[in-house]
Amino acid sequence: MSARVLKFGGTSVGTAERLRRALECVESATRETRVVVVVSALGGVTDRLEDAVRRSARGERVAAALAAHLRERHEALLAEVACGEPLERATASIESVLTTLAGLLEEVELRRHATPFARAAILATGERLSAPIVAAGLLTRGADSCVVDASRLLLASGSPLEADVDLAASQALVRAWWPSAPRTPVVTGFVATDREGRTLLLGRGGSDHTATLLAAALSAERVDIFSDTDGVLTADPRLVPQAQTLPSLDVTTAVALARLGARVLHPRTLEPTARRGIPVWVRDARRPERFGTRIPARGRTRDATIIVSGAPLALLPLPAGVDAAAWVGLLLAQDVPVLGTSPDSRLLLPASAIGCARDALAARGVTTGLAAELVHEHRVVAVVGTEREARVAAELRRAGVPLLHPVVRAGRRAVATIVHEDHVAAAVQTLHRGLAPTASRIDLVLVGARGRVARALRRLLARERGALAEGFGLDLRIVGAIDTRRMVWHEDGLEPAALEESLEQGEPAVLETMLTRIEAHTNRAKLLVDCTASDEVASSYSRLLAGGIGVVTPNKRANARTFGHWRALQSLARSHGAPYRYGTTVGAALPVLEAIRDLRTRGDRVRSAHAILSGSISHVLGAVQDGIAFSHAVAEAHARGFTEPHPAEDLGGLDVARKLVILLREAGIEVEPSEVRVSPLVPESLRQIPEPESFLAALSVENPRWREAVAAAATRGHRLVFLASWQDGTARVGVTELPLTDPLARVRTGENMVVLRTDHYDSIPLTIAGPGAGPDITAAGIVSDLVEAARQLTWSPSSERAERTLPASALSQEPQASRNTAEYLRVDSHSEDSKPLKGLTEAESAA
Ligand code: ASP
Ligand code: MG
Repeated sequence: MSARVLKFGGTSVGTAERLRRALECVESATRETRVVVVVSALGGVTDRLEDAVRRSARGERVAAALAAHLRERHEALLAEVACGEPLERATASIESVLTTLAGLLEEVELRRHATPFARAAILATGERLSAPIVAAGLLTRGADSCVVDASRLLLASGSPLEADVDLAASQALVRAWWPSAPRTPVVTGFVATDREGRTLLLGRGGSDHTATLLAAALSAERVDIFSDTDGVLTADPRLVPQAQTLPSLDVTTAVALARLGARVLHPRTLEPTARRGIPVWVRDARRPERFGTRIPARGRTRDATIIVSGAPLALLPLPAGVDAAAWVGLLLAQDVPVLGTSPDSRLLLPASAIGCARDALAARGVTTGLAAELVHEHRVVAVVGTEREARVAAELRRAGVPLLHPVVRAGRRAVATIVHEDHVAAAVQTLHRGLAPTASRIDLVLVGARGRVARALRRLLARERGALAEGFGLDLRIVGAIDTRRMVWHEDGLEPAALEESLEQGEPAVLETMLTRIEAHTNRAKLLVDCTASDEVASSYSRLLAGGIGVVTPNKRANARTFGHWRALQSLARSHGAPYRYGTTVGAALPVLEAIRDLRTRGDRVRSAHAILSGSISHVLGAVQDGIAFSHAVAEAHARGFTEPHPAEDLGGLDVARKLVILLREAGIEVEPSEVRVSPLVPESLRQIPEPESFLAALSVENPRWREAVAAAATRGHRLVFLASWQDGTARVGVTELPLTDPLARVRTGENMVVLRTDHYDSIPLTIAGPGAGPDITAAGIVSDLVEAARQLTWSPSSERAERTLPASALSQEPQASRNTAEYLRVDSHSEDSKPLKGLTEAESAA
């Protein structure tokens, strides 16, 4: 029961334009699999509701005005995306939710008090209003949808505002519901129910958690959390414009971020999915073509340094008799970011960590119903992905940021300090500048973007994006794509999986325009990936290389021109530091050219080469020797996509000749294409037939000749192969008989084999063999080349630059980080300003 969960935050559905984007995202995902949509309240609505509760409890009459405001906002939005019956039904649901809301608020007003359950029911209104709109939008667009209140699916207990979901019981409900649910149901985020049927909430920001809980219950393939940032960034982009999107992040780091106050994810979001091995993606709903950040369920990703800023500081009192200082270490060991204790023995921690602190304390028998308190104007600034307090302190000191607390460890691989809110921006900017090396971004332009090889390559890039980031620190992005018909360009990168559609909507293709764009595009590392067999594209390499733009290609054209041209490309690449990699031009992903380069660097010399380099011709000859008529064998290879669009291309032998030329040149042998003696499989007169179909039909005249050749070879115990060779200074390509004892005679369909004799590999030759054709394997080879090229572009001896420029003295002056001092904390805990935290007051009233 494959499914995907798509969650949209309040801003992602808050305006008609955004909502339309969201609906498009849902539609395109629905084409692939069943989708569960989870929605938050429209942006700002939950805050309005909180405010209304507070005011009603003071006796103010707010119900009618609030209901009117909400009606207007929701119905206006609804009218933008829905019509007909879906619109009518959604209007009715909105009305009934608003009637309930008004009743609840009036009751609070009457009693001058909101019970936690009343508060929960009121706050849930936002999601109960937004979900019908999204469902109506989908229905209007012809999708099979409906609204499902999450209270039907998620069973919870505990605090009404911060409930604990019973995953086992909920899973049973979800699984019972799913088979008969519509293809694309829309579920209210944030909301759950208890066994008495009362509404409970999952904590502010809890819709993310709804999404992962449903995903876990359904064993979904992935969860996409759409918000208004392009994934998880290395810092708050409002403070640090250079902040970069992290391509991937491990669960531990993501949880640490949330606990330290990064707003991207609710701290509990990743619990259910991590346990079930489901990956979560954080993406930008306005730009669904971008990747966003992937959070795989397991494994460690490459270390990323992320600066978290601005979480309010909170003080959490412990019950009388409990020694707060003694708890600091214990909590830290569980990744609860406690910074220390205040002089009056309360725990000092980011407000976002209160929930997990309470949980960790409760797990060890310490329950505290006492409300935490916010420290006015003080903010926690943390660096995730480092354990170096001294380094962080030195950076901050150098920038003159006054610290209100020593820099201390705040969990595994995180350190934190406290600064005045006026200094948050300076602190974050300094730390980001000094500490945040991100995955190196390499921008790619893909030519021949819809061809078979490019399609396989895109699939691979989409799939391996995380691995590339983790394993190599590479963030490869396709910024431009072009084929013979259309082209697209997107500075921030195009989603490889959606490229087909992006191209469909692109502008008419003009190669020159694309080339000018890549040349003008930023000073970031750039690569052209040419997946065509085009001469025109090959002609652009010299200009690109001269401009420092690397080229990665399986296209043989450029390298098979004159030797002078070959040498010019090589030297351009070298002198401009532009990688030029074409490892897939010979033997697809087989390490043929690499091996030859390797031989040469150790002073070895190629003496002779014998190779089978054409998958399509091997296929034809194999079939012919199995008794199939030549013309049929060719037609079949053509039908199975083993040949070029026009099979004469292969049968002329020119393609193999080009491969031989490249192989020899790589070996340091100066050979011109005109010197290769090519014996085609099919005479010129036939190859001239322009239409592939007529060509194939005409081929039958060749059948008798082949039948005889096969029979003659067989009587001698020989086999026919299409051999490329270099021996005694002569390069040859053509059909040859080889004894069955020769490994080259035993090459199987689709296989390539290169046999090299060198000074070192003399009596026993060096043999490289394996599958040597096909889009997938070629794409795999291109990825290897891309990685090598990218490394060449990003390697720099100063990548540890920041570390080294730090004066040694800065490190030695480090004050001892003491967790118990915090003398700065002149907090008047009874001051008017320091209000108890949201969602915590009910703990007292419940107690
Ligand atoms: N609407 C709720 C809130 O604002 C839940 C959410 O957005 O995730 O906190
Ligand atoms: Mg949210």
